[in-house]
Amino acid sequence: MRIIKERIIKNYNLLLQKGMNLGSEGNISVKFKEKVFITPSGVDIKNLKIENISIVDFEGNLNNRVKPSSELDLHLLIYKKRKEINSIVHCHSDWASILSCMRQKIKKFHYMIAEFGGDDIKCSKYATFGTTKLANFVLEACRNRKGCLIANHGQISLGENIDEATHLSLALEKLAKQYYFCLLSKNFKLLSSKEISSVLKKFTNYKFKH
Ligand SMILES: [Zn+2]
Repeated sequence: MRIIKERIIKNYNLLLQKGMNLGSEGNISVKFKEKVFITPSGVDIKNLKIENISIVDFEGNLNNRVKPSSELDLHLLIYKKRKEINSIVHCHSDWASILSCMRQKIKKFHYMIAEFGGDDIKCSKYATFGTTKLANFVLEACRNRKGCLIANHGQISLGENIDEATHLSLALEKLAKQYYFCLLSKNFKLLSSKEISSVLKKFTNYKFKH
């Protein structure tokens, strides 16, 4: 259990170093057996210690006395509906947030979007943070994908383990930045369906290793 908490803190700090989060923004969770380990509500990342990691069951009942992130419902819904997912990273990184405010999905402009499982990365509909409505919108936008933009809010990345979820979060931010400048230039070509499907085929048997 301790090692899970340590890895959450390590990855949360990595996101901070990369400028993906500010203060207590964003959250990371890991599913392990019948429990979900999640970053707490309102604790600055710099002060985060292992005793600050909240532990809940799938119904959201607390296993310790730490108040979980306000986006707990979002994490729990994804774990219930997506059995292959064992870790989730949510943050308000700049470029992903900018595209999310433009309500732009990322189209097949760069072959690396295939890492998310399809020929686009969608943007969810808007709902207030921390609500079940938002959880459902995000679940829908992540269908057959390992991430999405969250309207006027930020991004979420889903992984089979915490390293994959963190990697995808950084990858999504990079793609969002590249796509924003492509949109700005108005002078770029999308890949064809055939081109992206041959990349998807190559990625099918690719498992993220770290
Ligand atoms: Zn958020």
